[in-house]
Amino acid sequence: MLNDRPLKLQDLNHHARQFAHKHLYKDLALTEHLAMFDHEGWIKCAEFGLFRLAIPEKFGGKGATRTELIAVMEGLGYGCEDNGLLFSINAHLWTVVLPLIAHGTPEQQAQFLPSLLDGSMIGANASTEEQAGSDVFSMQTQAVKQDGHYILNGTKCYITNAPIADLFVIYANLDPNLDPLGITAFLVPSSTPGLEISSPLPKMGMRTAQMGKITLKDCRIPVSSVLGKIGRGMAIFENAMENERGCLLASALGTMQRQLENGIQHARTRKQFVHAISKNQAVSHRLVDMKVSLDAAREMIYRVARLKDEGHNAFLEAASAKLFVSETYTKFSLDVFRLYGAQGYLANSPAERGIRDSIASLIYSGTSDIQRNIIAMELGL
Ligand SMILES: Cc1cc2nc3c(=O)[nH]c(=O)nc-3n(C[C@H](O)[C@H](O)[C@H](O)COP(=O)(O)OP(=O)(O)OC[C@H]3O[C@@H](n4cnc5c(N)ncnc54)[C@H](O)[C@@H]3O)c2cc1C
Repeated sequence: MLNDRPLKLQDLNHHARQFAHKHLYKDLALTEHLAMFDHEGWIKCAEFGLFRLAIPEKFGGKGATRTELIAVMEGLGYGCEDNGLLFSINAHLWTVVLPLIAHGTPEQQAQFLPSLLDGSMIGANASTEEQAGSDVFSMQTQAVKQDGHYILNGTKCYITNAPIADLFVIYANLDPNLDPLGITAFLVPSSTPGLEISSPLPKMGMRTAQMGKITLKDCRIPVSSVLGKIGRGMAIFENAMENERGCLLASALGTMQRQLENGIQHARTRKQFVHAISKNQAVSHRLVDMKVSLDAAREMIYRVARLKDEGHNAFLEAASAKLFVSETYTKFSLDVFRLYGAQGYLANSPAERGIRDSIASLIYSGTSDIQRNIIAMELGL
Protein backbone atom coordinates (compact mmCIF):
# COMPACT_ATOMS: atom_id res chain seq x y z
CA MET A 1 0.00 0.00 0.00
CA LEU A 2 1.11 3.53 -0.73
CA ASN A 3 -0.65 4.75 2.41
CA ASP A 4 2.53 4.64 4.46
CA ARG A 5 4.57 5.80 1.56
CA PRO A 6 8.27 6.25 2.05
CA LEU A 7 9.53 9.66 1.06
CA LYS A 8 12.42 8.90 -1.27
CA LEU A 9 11.52 8.78 -4.93
CA GLN A 10 13.57 5.67 -5.59
CA ASP A 11 11.78 3.92 -2.71
CA LEU A 12 8.41 4.81 -4.22
CA ASN A 13 9.60 3.58 -7.59
CA HIS A 14 10.87 0.33 -6.07
CA HIS A 15 7.68 -0.16 -4.07
CA ALA A 16 5.58 0.25 -7.22
CA ARG A 17 7.80 -2.20 -9.15
CA GLN A 18 7.32 -4.82 -6.46
CA PHE A 19 3.58 -4.25 -6.32
CA ALA A 20 3.29 -4.54 -10.11
CA HIS A 21 5.41 -7.71 -10.23
CA LYS A 22 3.28 -9.32 -7.59
CA HIS A 23 -0.19 -8.22 -8.65
CA LEU A 24 -0.20 -7.03 -12.26
CA TYR A 25 2.15 -9.25 -14.20
CA LYS A 26 -0.12 -11.53 -16.19
CA ASP A 27 -0.14 -13.85 -19.16
CA LEU A 28 -0.58 -11.07 -21.65
CA ALA A 29 -0.74 -13.36 -24.69
CA LEU A 30 -4.16 -14.50 -23.55
CA THR A 31 -5.57 -11.21 -22.25
CA GLU A 32 -4.35 -9.38 -25.36
CA HIS A 33 -5.81 -12.04 -27.62
CA LEU A 34 -9.15 -11.60 -25.89
CA ALA A 35 -8.64 -7.79 -25.62
CA MET A 36 -9.60 -8.21 -21.99
CA PHE A 37 -9.39 -5.36 -19.52
CA ASP A 38 -7.75 -6.41 -16.25
CA HIS A 39 -10.47 -5.30 -13.88
CA GLU A 40 -8.90 -7.13 -10.99
CA GLY A 41 -5.61 -5.30 -11.65
CA TRP A 42 -7.47 -1.99 -11.72
CA ILE A 43 -8.97 -2.67 -8.29
CA LYS A 44 -5.57 -3.80 -7.00
CA CYS A 45 -4.10 -0.48 -8.20
CA ALA A 46 -6.88 1.39 -6.39
CA GLU A 47 -6.23 -0.62 -3.20
CA PHE A 48 -2.53 0.07 -3.59
CA GLY A 49 -3.50 3.75 -3.24
CA LEU A 50 -2.56 4.83 -6.76
CA PHE A 51 -5.66 6.82 -7.63
CA ARG A 52 -5.66 8.84 -4.41
CA LEU A 53 -1.90 9.24 -4.04
CA ALA A 54 -1.46 12.77 -5.45
CA ILE A 55 -4.92 13.97 -4.49
CA PRO A 56 -5.22 16.62 -1.75
CA GLU A 57 -6.13 15.24 1.65
CA LYS A 58 -9.35 17.26 1.85
CA PHE A 59 -10.68 15.14 -1.04
CA GLY A 60 -9.71 11.87 0.60
CA GLY A 61 -6.31 11.74 -1.07
CA LYS A 62 -2.83 11.19 0.30
CA GLY A 63 -1.51 14.62 -0.59
CA ALA A 64 1.62 13.35 -2.35
CA THR A 65 3.37 15.52 -4.91
CA ARG A 66 3.13 15.13 -8.67
CA THR A 67 6.78 14.10 -8.65
CA GLU A 68 5.99 11.28 -6.22
CA LEU A 69 3.13 10.11 -8.40
CA ILE A 70 5.41 10.13 -11.44
CA ALA A 71 7.96 8.00 -9.56
CA VAL A 72 5.22 5.48 -8.79
CA MET A 73 3.96 5.46 -12.39
CA GLU A 74 7.51 4.87 -13.60
CA GLY A 75 7.82 1.93 -11.20
CA LEU A 76 4.53 0.49 -12.45
CA GLY A 77 5.75 0.75 -16.04
CA TYR A 78 8.84 -1.22 -15.05
CA GLY A 79 6.98 -3.94 -13.20
CA CYS A 80 3.89 -4.29 -15.38
CA GLU A 81 3.95 -5.27 -19.04
CA ASP A 82 0.26 -4.59 -19.48
CA ASN A 83 0.56 -1.15 -21.04
CA GLY A 84 -3.17 -1.21 -21.79
CA LEU A 85 -4.02 -1.24 -18.10
CA LEU A 86 -1.58 1.59 -17.39
CA PHE A 87 -3.00 3.62 -20.28
CA SER A 88 -6.54 3.21 -18.89
CA ILE A 89 -5.34 4.39 -15.50
CA ASN A 90 -3.68 7.44 -17.03
CA ALA A 91 -6.84 8.41 -18.94
CA HIS A 92 -8.89 8.07 -15.74
CA LEU A 93 -6.50 10.16 -13.65
CA TRP A 94 -5.46 13.02 -15.93
CA THR A 95 -8.64 13.67 -17.87
CA VAL A 96 -11.37 12.89 -15.35
CA VAL A 97 -10.13 12.87 -11.74
CA LEU A 98 -7.89 15.95 -11.95
CA PRO A 99 -10.42 18.10 -13.90
CA LEU A 100 -13.07 17.16 -11.33
CA ILE A 101 -10.78 18.29 -8.53
CA ALA A 102 -9.80 21.50 -10.31
CA HIS A 103 -13.21 22.52 -11.67
CA GLY A 104 -15.93 20.48 -9.95
CA THR A 105 -18.46 21.89 -7.49
CA PRO A 106 -18.37 20.48 -3.94
CA GLU A 107 -21.55 18.54 -4.79
CA GLN A 108 -20.01 17.01 -7.92
CA GLN A 109 -16.87 16.14 -6.00
CA ALA A 110 -18.87 14.54 -3.19
CA GLN A 111 -20.93 12.58 -5.71
CA PHE A 112 -18.14 11.19 -7.89
CA LEU A 113 -14.72 11.46 -6.27
CA PRO A 114 -15.00 8.73 -3.61
CA SER A 115 -15.90 6.12 -6.25
CA LEU A 116 -13.32 7.39 -8.76
CA LEU A 117 -10.62 7.20 -6.09
CA ASP A 118 -11.54 3.78 -4.70
CA GLY A 119 -11.66 2.34 -8.22
CA SER A 120 -15.34 1.41 -8.19
CA MET A 121 -15.97 4.02 -10.91
CA ILE A 122 -13.97 4.32 -14.14
CA GLY A 123 -13.65 7.64 -15.93
CA ALA A 124 -13.33 8.51 -19.62
CA ASN A 125 -12.75 11.73 -21.52
CA ALA A 126 -14.79 12.29 -24.70
CA SER A 127 -13.59 15.13 -26.88
CA THR A 128 -12.53 13.68 -30.27
CA GLU A 129 -15.02 13.32 -33.14
CA GLU A 130 -14.66 11.86 -36.64
CA GLN A 131 -14.23 15.34 -38.13
CA ALA A 132 -12.61 16.94 -35.08
CA GLY A 133 -9.36 15.20 -34.16
CA SER A 134 -6.35 17.49 -34.03
CA ASP A 135 -8.77 20.36 -34.65
CA VAL A 136 -10.74 19.28 -31.61
CA PHE A 137 -12.43 22.62 -31.02
CA SER A 138 -14.27 22.30 -34.32
CA MET A 139 -16.42 19.65 -32.59
CA GLN A 140 -20.02 19.32 -33.71
CA THR A 141 -21.55 17.80 -30.59
CA GLN A 142 -24.16 20.25 -29.39
CA ALA A 143 -25.75 21.01 -26.07
CA VAL A 144 -29.07 22.83 -25.92
CA LYS A 145 -30.66 24.13 -22.74
CA GLN A 146 -34.27 23.03 -22.36
CA ASP A 147 -36.61 22.92 -19.36
CA GLY A 148 -33.84 23.20 -16.80
CA HIS A 149 -31.78 20.46 -18.51
CA TYR A 150 -29.17 20.18 -21.25
CA ILE A 151 -29.87 17.98 -24.23
CA LEU A 152 -26.71 16.56 -25.85
CA ASN A 153 -26.49 15.31 -29.42
CA GLY A 154 -23.41 14.12 -31.28
CA THR A 155 -20.85 11.35 -31.61
CA LYS A 156 -17.42 10.93 -30.01
CA CYS A 157 -14.83 8.44 -31.16
CA TYR A 158 -11.58 6.75 -30.06
CA ILE A 159 -12.59 7.17 -26.41
CA THR A 160 -10.28 5.30 -24.05
CA ASN A 161 -12.21 3.37 -21.37
CA ALA A 162 -15.58 4.08 -23.06
CA PRO A 163 -16.83 0.46 -23.03
CA ILE A 164 -16.06 0.10 -19.31
CA ALA A 165 -16.59 3.68 -18.13
CA ASP A 166 -19.04 4.74 -15.46
CA LEU A 167 -18.51 8.47 -15.86
CA PHE A 168 -17.67 10.58 -18.91
CA VAL A 169 -16.34 14.09 -19.19
CA ILE A 170 -18.01 15.09 -22.45
CA TYR A 171 -17.18 18.26 -24.35
CA ALA A 172 -20.07 19.81 -26.30
CA ASN A 173 -20.84 23.19 -27.79
CA LEU A 174 -23.65 25.35 -26.41
CA ASP A 175 -23.33 27.95 -29.16
CA PRO A 176 -25.86 27.35 -31.98
CA ASN A 177 -23.21 28.51 -34.50
CA LEU A 178 -20.58 26.24 -32.91
CA ASP A 179 -18.26 29.08 -31.94
CA PRO A 180 -15.54 27.35 -29.86
CA LEU A 181 -16.24 29.84 -27.07
CA GLY A 182 -19.43 27.86 -26.50
CA ILE A 183 -17.59 24.62 -25.73
CA THR A 184 -18.51 23.36 -22.28
CA ALA A 185 -17.52 20.28 -20.29
CA PHE A 186 -20.24 18.04 -18.85
CA LEU A 187 -20.14 15.18 -16.36
CA VAL A 188 -22.30 12.38 -17.72
CA PRO A 189 -22.75 8.98 -16.03
CA SER A 190 -22.69 6.12 -18.52
CA SER A 191 -26.16 4.99 -17.40
CA THR A 192 -27.76 8.22 -18.68
CA PRO A 193 -30.56 7.49 -21.18
CA GLY A 194 -29.58 8.65 -24.67
CA LEU A 195 -25.89 7.81 -24.19
CA GLU A 196 -24.97 4.78 -26.28
CA ILE A 197 -21.59 3.11 -26.05
CA SER A 198 -20.15 0.96 -28.83
CA SER A 199 -18.50 -2.37 -28.26
CA PRO A 200 -14.70 -2.17 -27.88
CA LEU A 201 -12.80 -1.21 -31.05
CA PRO A 202 -10.03 -3.66 -31.97
CA LYS A 203 -6.65 -1.89 -31.85
CA MET A 204 -3.06 -2.44 -32.96
CA GLY A 205 -1.62 -2.25 -29.45
CA MET A 206 -2.48 -1.69 -25.79
CA ARG A 207 -5.21 -4.20 -26.55
CA THR A 208 -6.30 -4.63 -22.97
CA ALA A 209 -7.28 -0.95 -22.81
CA GLN A 210 -10.84 -0.59 -24.04
CA MET A 211 -11.58 2.03 -26.67
CA GLY A 212 -15.02 2.86 -28.01
CA LYS A 213 -17.33 5.32 -29.66
CA ILE A 214 -20.18 7.05 -27.89
CA THR A 215 -23.34 8.39 -29.43
CA LEU A 216 -25.49 11.00 -27.75
CA LYS A 217 -29.10 11.00 -28.90
CA ASP A 218 -31.20 13.56 -27.06
CA CYS A 219 -29.19 12.73 -23.98
CA ARG A 220 -30.84 14.73 -21.18
CA ILE A 221 -28.72 15.77 -18.24
CA PRO A 222 -29.42 18.15 -15.34
CA VAL A 223 -27.95 21.67 -15.42
CA SER A 224 -25.83 20.65 -12.43
CA SER A 225 -23.82 18.44 -14.85
CA VAL A 226 -21.74 21.36 -16.14
CA LEU A 227 -18.11 20.91 -15.11
CA GLY A 228 -16.60 24.31 -14.40
CA LYS A 229 -18.23 27.26 -16.07
CA ILE A 230 -20.33 27.43 -19.23
CA GLY A 231 -18.10 28.26 -22.19
CA ARG A 232 -14.92 27.30 -20.32
CA GLY A 233 -14.59 23.92 -22.00
CA MET A 234 -11.53 24.87 -24.02
CA ALA A 235 -9.63 25.98 -20.91
CA ILE A 236 -10.63 22.83 -18.99
CA PHE A 237 -9.58 20.67 -21.92
CA GLU A 238 -6.22 22.47 -22.34
CA ASN A 239 -5.58 22.13 -18.63
CA ALA A 240 -6.35 18.39 -18.72
CA MET A 241 -4.11 18.00 -21.77
CA GLU A 242 -1.24 19.86 -20.08
CA ASN A 243 -1.40 17.36 -17.22
CA GLU A 244 -1.82 14.37 -19.49
CA ARG A 245 0.87 15.31 -22.02
CA GLY A 246 3.39 16.10 -19.36
CA CYS A 247 2.86 13.03 -17.22
CA LEU A 248 1.14 10.15 -19.02
CA LEU A 249 4.35 8.76 -20.45
CA ALA A 250 5.91 8.35 -16.99
CA SER A 251 5.01 4.66 -17.11
CA ALA A 252 6.78 4.44 -20.50
CA LEU A 253 9.99 5.48 -18.70
CA GLY A 254 9.73 2.33 -16.59
CA THR A 255 8.91 0.25 -19.65
CA MET A 256 11.99 1.59 -21.46
CA GLN A 257 14.20 1.01 -18.40
CA ARG A 258 13.09 -2.64 -18.28
CA GLN A 259 13.59 -3.04 -22.02
CA LEU A 260 17.06 -1.51 -21.76
CA GLU A 261 18.13 -3.82 -18.92
CA ASN A 262 16.77 -6.88 -20.73
CA GLY A 263 18.37 -5.70 -23.97
CA ILE A 264 21.79 -5.33 -22.32
CA GLN A 265 21.47 -8.81 -20.86
CA HIS A 266 20.51 -10.21 -24.26
CA ALA A 267 23.38 -8.41 -26.02
CA ARG A 268 25.84 -9.85 -23.50
CA THR A 269 24.64 -13.42 -23.84
CA ARG A 270 23.58 -13.78 -27.47
CA LYS A 271 26.59 -14.96 -29.49
CA GLN A 272 27.13 -14.58 -33.21
CA PHE A 273 30.47 -14.92 -35.00
CA VAL A 274 31.83 -16.52 -31.76
CA HIS A 275 31.46 -13.34 -29.66
CA ALA A 276 28.62 -11.76 -27.74
CA ILE A 277 26.76 -9.36 -30.04
CA SER A 278 27.47 -6.57 -27.50
CA LYS A 279 31.10 -6.70 -28.67
CA ASN A 280 29.99 -5.13 -31.93
CA GLN A 281 30.15 -1.38 -31.63
CA ALA A 282 27.02 -1.07 -33.78
CA VAL A 283 25.11 -2.96 -31.08
CA SER A 284 26.71 -1.40 -28.00
CA HIS A 285 26.36 2.12 -29.38
CA ARG A 286 22.70 1.54 -30.12
CA LEU A 287 22.21 0.52 -26.48
CA VAL A 288 24.20 3.57 -25.37
CA ASP A 289 21.98 5.85 -27.46
CA MET A 290 18.93 4.21 -25.91
CA LYS A 291 20.28 4.86 -22.42
CA VAL A 292 21.06 8.51 -23.19
CA SER A 293 17.67 9.17 -24.78
CA LEU A 294 15.92 7.51 -21.84
CA ASP A 295 17.83 9.72 -19.39
CA ALA A 296 16.78 12.81 -21.35
CA ALA A 297 13.16 11.62 -21.54
CA ARG A 298 13.14 11.08 -17.78
CA GLU A 299 14.44 14.59 -17.13
CA MET A 300 11.71 16.09 -19.31
CA ILE A 301 8.87 14.35 -17.50
CA TYR A 302 10.25 15.06 -14.04
CA ARG A 303 10.71 18.71 -15.06
CA VAL A 304 6.98 18.98 -15.80
CA ALA A 305 6.17 17.30 -12.48
CA ARG A 306 8.46 19.71 -10.58
CA LEU A 307 6.90 22.71 -12.30
CA LYS A 308 3.41 21.51 -11.40
CA ASP A 309 4.48 20.87 -7.80
CA GLU A 310 5.76 24.45 -7.64
CA GLY A 311 2.41 25.70 -8.93
CA HIS A 312 3.70 26.81 -12.34
CA ASN A 313 2.19 26.59 -15.76
CA ALA A 314 3.97 23.90 -17.79
CA PHE A 315 2.14 24.16 -21.10
CA LEU A 316 5.28 24.41 -23.22
CA GLU A 317 7.28 21.92 -21.17
CA ALA A 318 4.41 19.39 -21.26
CA ALA A 319 4.21 19.63 -25.07
CA SER A 320 8.00 19.25 -25.29
CA ALA A 321 7.91 16.23 -22.99
CA LYS A 322 5.08 14.61 -24.96
CA LEU A 323 6.87 15.20 -28.26
CA PHE A 324 10.28 14.02 -27.12
CA VAL A 325 9.23 11.08 -24.96
CA SER A 326 6.74 9.65 -27.48
CA GLU A 327 9.26 9.88 -30.32
CA THR A 328 11.96 8.40 -28.07
CA TYR A 329 9.65 5.60 -26.90
CA THR A 330 8.76 4.63 -30.46
CA LYS A 331 12.36 4.70 -31.71
CA PHE A 332 13.42 2.83 -28.58
CA SER A 333 10.95 0.04 -29.32
CA LEU A 334 12.29 -0.31 -32.86
CA ASP A 335 15.84 -0.48 -31.50
CA VAL A 336 14.81 -3.18 -29.02
CA PHE A 337 13.28 -5.06 -31.94
CA ARG A 338 16.54 -4.87 -33.94
CA LEU A 339 18.42 -6.27 -30.97
CA TYR A 340 16.40 -9.47 -30.79
CA GLY A 341 16.45 -10.32 -34.50
CA ALA A 342 13.72 -12.70 -35.68
CA GLN A 343 12.84 -13.62 -32.11
CA GLY A 344 11.43 -10.10 -31.70
CA TYR A 345 9.19 -10.56 -34.71
CA LEU A 346 7.22 -13.37 -33.08
CA ALA A 347 3.74 -12.42 -31.97
CA ASN A 348 3.54 -11.68 -28.24
CA SER A 349 7.27 -11.33 -27.79
CA PRO A 350 8.07 -8.26 -25.64
CA ALA A 351 9.79 -6.62 -28.62
CA GLU A 352 6.76 -7.04 -30.87
CA ARG A 353 4.40 -5.82 -28.16
CA GLY A 354 6.70 -2.89 -27.50
CA ILE A 355 6.30 -1.63 -31.06
CA ARG A 356 2.54 -2.09 -31.08
CA ASP A 357 2.09 -0.39 -27.72
CA SER A 358 4.51 2.50 -28.13
CA ILE A 359 3.46 3.71 -31.56
CA ALA A 360 0.09 5.03 -30.36
CA SER A 361 1.96 7.62 -28.30
CA LEU A 362 2.70 9.47 -31.56
CA ILE A 363 -1.04 10.14 -31.88
CA TYR A 364 -2.90 10.27 -28.55
CA SER A 365 -3.03 13.39 -26.45
CA GLY A 366 -2.16 15.38 -29.59
CA THR A 367 0.09 14.17 -32.41
CA SER A 368 3.78 15.07 -32.63
CA ASP A 369 2.91 17.65 -35.30
CA ILE A 370 0.41 19.26 -32.94
CA GLN A 371 2.97 19.32 -30.09
CA ARG A 372 5.35 21.11 -32.48
CA ASN A 373 2.59 23.60 -33.33
CA ILE A 374 2.02 24.24 -29.61
CA ILE A 375 5.72 24.76 -28.96
CA ALA A 376 6.01 27.07 -32.00
CA MET A 377 3.07 29.09 -30.70
CA GLU A 378 4.59 29.29 -27.22
CA LEU A 379 7.82 30.52 -28.81
CA GLY A 380 5.86 33.26 -30.56
CA LEU A 381 6.44 31.80 -34.02
C1 LIG B 1 -4.68 5.10 -28.35
C2 LIG B 1 -5.52 6.32 -28.49
C3 LIG B 1 -6.30 6.73 -27.43
C4 LIG B 1 -7.13 7.85 -27.55
N1 LIG B 1 -7.93 8.20 -26.49
C5 LIG B 1 -8.78 9.25 -26.62
C6 LIG B 1 -9.67 9.60 -25.55
O1 LIG B 1 -9.68 8.97 -24.49
N2 LIG B 1 -10.54 10.63 -25.74
C7 LIG B 1 -10.58 11.35 -26.90
O2 LIG B 1 -11.38 12.27 -26.98
N3 LIG B 1 -9.73 11.05 -27.93
C8 LIG B 1 -8.85 10.02 -27.83
N4 LIG B 1 -8.00 9.68 -28.86
C9 LIG B 1 -8.07 10.45 -30.11
C10 LIG B 1 -6.86 11.38 -30.28
O3 LIG B 1 -6.96 12.46 -29.42
C11 LIG B 1 -6.82 11.79 -31.76
O4 LIG B 1 -6.60 10.61 -32.51
C12 LIG B 1 -5.73 12.80 -32.04
O5 LIG B 1 -6.05 14.04 -31.48
C13 LIG B 1 -5.51 12.98 -33.58
O6 LIG B 1 -6.70 13.18 -34.25
P1 LIG B 1 -7.04 12.29 -35.54
O7 LIG B 1 -6.81 10.88 -35.19
O8 LIG B 1 -8.38 12.69 -36.02
O9 LIG B 1 -5.95 12.69 -36.62
P2 LIG B 1 -5.99 13.98 -37.60
O10 LIG B 1 -6.27 15.20 -36.80
O11 LIG B 1 -6.84 13.70 -38.77
O12 LIG B 1 -4.45 14.05 -38.06
C14 LIG B 1 -3.96 13.27 -39.17
C15 LIG B 1 -2.54 13.75 -39.46
O13 LIG B 1 -2.54 15.14 -39.83
C16 LIG B 1 -1.65 15.87 -39.01
N5 LIG B 1 -2.21 17.20 -38.74
C17 LIG B 1 -3.50 17.54 -38.52
N6 LIG B 1 -3.60 18.85 -38.29
C18 LIG B 1 -2.35 19.37 -38.36
C19 LIG B 1 -1.80 20.66 -38.19
N7 LIG B 1 -2.55 21.73 -37.92
N8 LIG B 1 -0.45 20.80 -38.32
C20 LIG B 1 0.34 19.74 -38.61
N9 LIG B 1 -0.12 18.50 -38.77
C21 LIG B 1 -1.46 18.31 -38.64
C22 LIG B 1 -1.56 15.06 -37.71
O14 LIG B 1 -0.37 15.35 -37.02
C23 LIG B 1 -1.62 13.64 -38.25
O15 LIG B 1 -0.34 13.27 -38.67
C24 LIG B 1 -7.16 8.58 -28.77
C25 LIG B 1 -6.34 8.17 -29.82
C26 LIG B 1 -5.54 7.05 -29.71
C27 LIG B 1 -4.68 6.63 -30.86
